[in-house]
Amino acid sequence: MERTKIYIDKLKKNDLKATNERIEMIKLFLNHPDEHFSIEDIETMCRNIGTATIYRNVKNFKKCSIIDKVASDDGRNFYTLSNEGSHSRTYLVCSECGRIIDYKGSGLAHMNEKIKLKYGFEVSDICCEVYGCCSECRKSKSLKIVGGAI
Ligand SMILES: [Zn+2]
Repeated sequence: MERTKIYIDKLKKNDLKATNERIEMIKLFLNHPDEHFSIEDIETMCRNIGTATIYRNVKNFKKCSIIDKVASDDGRNFYTLSNEGSHSRTYLVCSECGRIIDYKGSGLAHMNEKIKLKYGFEVSDICCEVYGCCSECRKSKSLKIVGGAI
């Protein structure tokens, strides 16, 4: 699997060995590129890896830009595969149900240029969380309003 190798190289660049546990965790993220896992989710899916090792690896993966951390409204942290080669990542976080959606638009790309012009600041990475209400929650809310009017 070619993509696994890209991430193993990232480990090596950061002086981290590609242990079986790390490879297993990388594969978990690779097999679910649009999912956001909590530490508990990773524990459930990698039963043979100890909690301390999972915490340590998640921290290391973050450092190597293998995964990104996304905080939900209630303070829980989720982890998702980092977008290869992308320098701006935007997540839409639903304040109602905690759902996290990857925003695939490119609006932030222009911001890099503006920031550089205005502040002389070279942007290397943007990670943005946008809070609001997802389509599902909006749908159930409007149903409730209709129901209440009767
Ligand atoms: Zn929602």
